[in-house]
Amino acid sequence: MNGKEPGAVFTDQAAAIAAGIRTALPRTYHGLCTFHITMNAKSNGLWWSPFLEELSFLMYDLETEDEFDYYWKKMLENCFNEEEEEEEGKKLTSKIEAWLQNLHKVRSKWSSAWLKDHFACGMRSSQLSESCNSHLRKYLQSKLTLWEFFIQFNNFLEAKRHKELRSDYEALNTIPYLVFTNSEVLQQFVTKYTQNIFGNMQDEYSKSIKYHIRPNNSKDIDGMFAYELHKLDQQRNPIDKRIVIVDFVERKLICSCKMFEKCGWLCRHVLRAIDHLGYGGHPEILNIHTRYILNRWTYDAKSGDFTLPAVQDTAERVYCSMVKQLTGSMNLLATHTCMDDDIYKMLEEGMQALKIRAESMMPAMKFGQPSTSTGMKHYL
Ligand SMILES: [Zn+2]
Repeated sequence: MNGKEPGAVFTDQAAAIAAGIRTALPRTYHGLCTFHITMNAKSNGLWWSPFLEELSFLMYDLETEDEFDYYWKKMLENCFNEEEEEEEGKKLTSKIEAWLQNLHKVRSKWSSAWLKDHFACGMRSSQLSESCNSHLRKYLQSKLTLWEFFIQFNNFLEAKRHKELRSDYEALNTIPYLVFTNSEVLQQFVTKYTQNIFGNMQDEYSKSIKYHIRPNNSKDIDGMFAYELHKLDQQRNPIDKRIVIVDFVERKLICSCKMFEKCGWLCRHVLRAIDHLGYGGHPEILNIHTRYILNRWTYDAKSGDFTLPAVQDTAERVYCSMVKQLTGSMNLLATHTCMDDDIYKMLEEGMQALKIRAESMMPAMKFGQPSTSTGMKHYL
């Protein structure tokens, strides 16, 4: 990774992987895959949909540790009781209680309350890797020979590359659909961002209209102004409050939910603040600073010079390349023709003749060892 560590890594709950990440990537946030946790909950009897909704809320919608503590307690109150006659899934059995206690111990690895300072492109699960493994299993079987394994592995890579090319083509030839045509903010992104990411932003914008905003004068610092945002129809969350800090000079927008810092696109709270302030006497804020338009989400993301540095040929690399080329050709010849006795006999005789001829051309070489008198000698 050229000495760079990822901001965040998501895995299942394997202890060995956790130990490996602590050693090899000490500055990387290690999160637990939310998909695995949900599957694990179901396999422990917690398939009851109200519980899964509460779990999802704890995973994705919280901002602070205080919020987590509050809603964890609410979840226990809402989802479980001691009544024996209650149906399975609602009763807090010793097995479920133990599972919940273990989950609570590692809460910093799966709740958004602890994730907000770590950039992860919005990912929270290891499903990308799981999907790759699942796809790979369609190509591979344990009975494959080594030769067949490499053929199938190449087929797998071809399919993946084809899919990527197709996605690139579709991204470059489709323009995201702008629902909120009057939004000056979205207009600045619709021609730059690819469809998926613009869709995420537009989704945030659609939710932003549910918030109302008011100044929070106690938090004005050094020319930066703070605003409080509350959800208009908020019933479930009495402590739900987001703070957006605005620097009108630098055109900086910082939200306490830190969606931009962890996902890379503006959140509903910032979008609400921009509209409120932009049409309320601060039109400069409607002009989004380029720091909030990330190149990684644009159509131009792949147009830069991302060529890997050229690898210098060395004698060892050339030798390995030549061996690989010849081995592949001979394997192909052998596996495709040896079902026929006459062809096998012809190849066997031909190989012996080639061996004698090669030895005669390189008398100083002991057969079976690499030589420095081959065409790669100019690399030595
Ligand atoms: Zn926010």
